[in-house]
Amino acid sequence: LQAQLSQAQKMESVGRLAGGVAHDFNNMLGAILGYTELGMMKVSPADPTHGTLKDIQKAARRSVDLTRQLLTFARKQTVAPKVLDLNETLEGMLKMLRRLIGENIHLAWLPGKDLGRLRIDPSQIEQLLANLCVNARDAIHDTGKIIVKTAAVTLDEADCAGHMGMVPGEYVLLAVSDNGCGMDAETLSHLFEPFFTTKEVGKGTGLGLATVYGMVKQNNGFIDVHSEPGQGTTFRIYLPRNTTENGPKTKKDAAPPALHG
Ligand code: ADP
Repeated sequence: LQAQLSQAQKMESVGRLAGGVAHDFNNMLGAILGYTELGMMKVSPADPTHGTLKDIQKAARRSVDLTRQLLTFARKQTVAPKVLDLNETLEGMLKMLRRLIGENIHLAWLPGKDLGRLRIDPSQIEQLLANLCVNARDAIHDTGKIIVKTAAVTLDEADCAGHMGMVPGEYVLLAVSDNGCGMDAETLSHLFEPFFTTKEVGKGTGLGLATVYGMVKQNNGFIDVHSEPGQGTTFRIYLPRNTTENGPKTKKDAAPPALHG
C-alpha cells in the first residue's frame, strides 16, 4: 500500500510540474505558429524558405499535440460522470478505434452480457480505450489482432488475494488483448510511470498508461496486466458497477456535479 501511495504522490507532483510547463509552453507555441503562418503568407510557395517554414509549422503542431497530452494528464480534467451502459458506449467508439488501429489489424469486439451500469465520464472511457488500443497497435509489427471484451464480474476475497489494491465487489471488466510483442519484466515494472516509454523519440510520450492509471483510480477501479514476451498482452480494467441504478434517481444522477482530481 505504501508503495502504491508513493507512486500516486510521485505521479501527482510530476503531473503538476509537467502541467505548469505545458501551459506556458503552449502559449509560446501559439506565437510560433502565428508568426510562421504570417511568414508563409509573405513568401512565395516556390521559395525554398516556404518549405522551411512548413517544417517549422509541422514541428510546432506536433509540440501542440504533446503539450495537449501533458495538460490532459496533469489536470486530470474536469469530469462529467454519467450513468451509462458500457457496451453501448463502446459500440459507439468502434469506428474511431478501427480508424486508429488501421487496416492490417483485426479488431474483435466481444461484448459481455448483463453488464449493468457504470457511473463514469464517457470521454474517459474513450481515452482509456484509445490509449490501450494505440499501444496494442504499436506492439503489433505487421498484421495481428486486438480483442476488446467486456464482462460482468463479481470478485471475492480469494480473487483479490495477491492483487494489490483489489477490493471484493461487483465490477464491469473491460479487457484489451493483443498478440503483439509483449513485455519483459523490466518494462512491466515501469509501465504506469509517467514518461516511461520504449518508443522512439517523437512517437511515445510515456503518458498513455499513466493517464489510464489515473483515470481508473479516479473511478475507484483497478488494472491488471498480463504479458508474455513474443506472445502478447492483456490489460484488464475493473470498474465498480453502479449499484444504485434501481433505486430512486438521486439529484446527483440527474445533474452530476463537476468533479476535480
Ligand atoms: P507510450 O505509448 O507513449 O510509450 P504508455 O504509457 O502508453 O506510453 O506506454 C509505456 C510503454 O509500455 C510503451 O512504450 C511500451 O513499451 C509498453 N507497452 C504498453 N502497452 C503495451 C502493449 N500492449 N504491448 C507491449 N508493450 C506495451
